[in-house]
Amino acid sequence: MGSLEIVNLAGLVSGRLGEAVRPVGALRCEDGLIAALDAAGDGDVVVDAAGAVAIPGLIDSHAHVVFGDWTPRQSALGWIESSMHGGVSMMMSASEVHLPGRPSDREGVKALAIAAQRAFDRFRPGGVKVLGGSVIVEPCLEPEDFGWLAERGVGLAKVGFGAFERQGDAAPLVRAAQAAGMVVMNHTGGASIPGSSPVTIEDVLALGCDIIGHANGGPTSLPDEDLEGLFEAPGAIQLVQAGNLRSSLRILELASERGALDRIVLATDTPTGTGVMPLGMIKTVTELSSLASIAATDAISMAGAGNARVLRRPEGVLDVGRPADVVLLQPPLGGVASDPLAAIERGDIPGIAGVVIDGELRALRSRNSPAPAREARLVRGAAA
Ligand SMILES: [Zn+2]
Repeated sequence: MGSLEIVNLAGLVSGRLGEAVRPVGALRCEDGLIAALDAAGDGDVVVDAAGAVAIPGLIDSHAHVVFGDWTPRQSALGWIESSMHGGVSMMMSASEVHLPGRPSDREGVKALAIAAQRAFDRFRPGGVKVLGGSVIVEPCLEPEDFGWLAERGVGLAKVGFGAFERQGDAAPLVRAAQAAGMVVMNHTGGASIPGSSPVTIEDVLALGCDIIGHANGGPTSLPDEDLEGLFEAPGAIQLVQAGNLRSSLRILELASERGALDRIVLATDTPTGTGVMPLGMIKTVTELSSLASIAATDAISMAGAGNARVLRRPEGVLDVGRPADVVLLQPPLGGVASDPLAAIERGDIPGIAGVVIDGELRALRSRNSPAPAREARLVRGAAA
């Protein structure tokens, strides 16, 4: 894999909630990990960041992957690679529910999860790490199926689309999935696809999932009076781009009051009817930071470390020994802010001037973000 160095940084966002920008001027990556918070000047690949701020790669914990780099929902190809140009280094499948003709019998449901897990284990569009194969919790499954799937590498489950009369009735199967070590996410709010039923706050509490998926609606939100109940449930509270923005702001207000911002995680819930949104993660960070007056560093943490923690992954934090998933941010060219974090806090999407995943340079100048005020430059070596 070799070494990569990023020099001439203006600072580094660790990704830890509540931590200010660190005055780090360079990064050295070896064999996919961060080896040092300085540079020796002899990397196989050397990037001059031109004064960019380094942040952890963004993690989308609600991505509607299906197979390959294809979404049947919007008949689009290349959307995962395009999201990498939006600063996304990892995605978690919200189940392969959009597969045309998806099976709903016991064998078929299990086979789909295994096939997707295997396929994405071996295929990384644009270098993005896709955690694929999220088994859809259907009434035809038996509790022992989850242990069987977990032994075969399936680590994710999604509840809220299955043909249950009340989605809360799936709770015994959710317990079985969690006992098998799976990370379980529920759908919250109004029904999104024909044939599924709404998920109420009572269902959310009964299900007790690890992630309360699109707690701000996907896209239809819970009633305002039910939002406080989210804090009684055990899971991470996920706010998505393709949900109700007003509800997101209300949930952030409730989280701030309770000192519970560490429970908030960000995602896109795309591709869906809302579209393919390559800038969906950084746009969500920018909107929630600027509208809810949350420090850009904290909004970035919710989009990285928060998701990594619930997924039990080492990504999301920039420090020695962590995976080298790094995004270089600049203020957007022509914007009023002189640094990228101030741009986010005033609602301007920053310029993405470089994306590194597992220590490999994937893009220098994003083709999707606004133009960065100063462009990073390859001093030595080549992109992956
Ligand atoms: Zn979804």
